Amino acid sequence: MANTPYPESYYAASANAVPPRPVLQDDVETDVCVIGAGYTGLSSALFLLENGFRVTVLEAAKVGFGASGRNGGQIVNSYSRDIDVIERSVGPKQAQLLGQMAFEGGRIIRERVAKYNIQCDLKDGGVFAALTAKQMVHLESQKRLWERFGHTQLELLDQRRIREVVACDQYVGGMLDMSGGHIHPLNLALGEAAAVESLGGSIYEQSPAVRIERGANPVVHTPQGKVRAKFIIVAGNAYLGNLVPELAAKSMPCGTQVITTEPLGDELAKALLPQDYCVEDCNYLLDYYRLTGDKRLIFGGGVVYGARDPANIEAIIRPKMLKAFPQLKDVKIDYAWTGNFLLTLSRLPQVGRLGDNIYYSQGCSGHGVTYTHLAGKVLAEALRGQAERFDAFADLPHYPFPGGQMLRTPFAALGAWYYGLRDKYGF
Ligand SMILES: Cc1cc2nc3c(=O)[nH]c(=O)nc-3n(C[C@H](O)[C@H](O)[C@H](O)COP(=O)(O)OP(=O)(O)OC[C@H]3O[C@@H](n4cnc5c(N)ncnc54)[C@H](O)[C@@H]3O)c2cc1C
Repeated sequence: MANTPYPESYYAASANAVPPRPVLQDDVETDVCVIGAGYTGLSSALFLLENGFRVTVLEAAKVGFGASGRNGGQIVNSYSRDIDVIERSVGPKQAQLLGQMAFEGGRIIRERVAKYNIQCDLKDGGVFAALTAKQMVHLESQKRLWERFGHTQLELLDQRRIREVVACDQYVGGMLDMSGGHIHPLNLALGEAAAVESLGGSIYEQSPAVRIERGANPVVHTPQGKVRAKFIIVAGNAYLGNLVPELAAKSMPCGTQVITTEPLGDELAKALLPQDYCVEDCNYLLDYYRLTGDKRLIFGGGVVYGARDPANIEAIIRPKMLKAFPQLKDVKIDYAWTGNFLLTLSRLPQVGRLGDNIYYSQGCSGHGVTYTHLAGKVLAEALRGQAERFDAFADLPHYPFPGGQMLRTPFAALGAWYYGLRDKYGF
């Protein structure tokens, strides 16, 4: 029986201690079987338990093994596509619902952290940094747009103000979102898992769902057991493989990499990011970074289409970090790792039902820390029979990647290369 550990990372090295969880070896019955213990699965499980459902979570490896335990830790609200683009695609009514929900995920995370006393280094404040005047104009128009949907907390930063929050000379300005922020992502997932168990939910680790028997009374099979449930929630995201073949054609796993410096010490850390906000730039292939609780810099950027693991992550990411912060040239990198997120062609989440009782949410295409928490809430609402907000996501159109399974990776890489050139040369 495979025992898959966490990949080596700063997060695994600094994870809060948790008791070992069992492997499913029985035939169990529950109301909802959740497949995957990342944020989507755990958030769904928590909302369902809070509403009186019995919940069993199956995790192929360990809680937070996927993107939820490896990400940059940035609480970035909204979606991976601008709301005006969404509005043009789906019309004002659906866009209104989606727009209203766009900053809810960050609130859910804070409520969870407070209610269940989760120790995950939560800090408020996220900055979108503009590298060009064109990007700054775009941020200004985004701020106006978000105000139309009732989100009035955003603050524009001019060149002087952004220099006060980040010691990087590349930026012409930015936008501060105090409802954004950052967390230790694996400790958030572990805290949410403990909350699930505190409410009577069961989590089985090293227990992959290998087959779903569909029908009026669906059954999820693992190598040594099975779960009979009224509903199934599929939350395996980029690690799901081909368990649900209908979902694979319209999404593509992509790798992205993160490095972590040695501890910088209070003085250097404060010089880089005096207010301890997280930062992401406005490029299509964006760089993002933040300080950890013990004052290291976590820096991420770049995408590997098709989720191949690059051989030398430090060689790819360190030059990006030094471009932003040449002052770190003598700083050692202690950790480097890769993780997979799930990309859709529209960069919007892929949400829906298969038959009456199998629900799924996946593919938030990069920005997922907040959306996945919201997804748990709207999935739980849908299972309780209030599906208006769920349907606002489920009705988003999705298309297969051009080129099919064979050619989608080079085609997507070509598209990203084009957008990378646009970022670089500003056309
Ligand atoms: C390196 C990296 C950096 C990122 N940085 C950020 C960031 O800073 N901010 C942000 O907003 N977003 C970021 N993201 C995206 C964000 O982390 C994801 O969108 C989000 O965590 C997805 O959560 P999830 O629960 O849907 O999927 P995952 O966290 O990937 O969880 C899926 C889980 O399902 C399990 N699973 C899969 N198949 C099965 C099966 N058959 N049976 C049982 N279990 C199964 C997997 O083992 C896994 O644990 C980043 C992603 C990566 C990879």
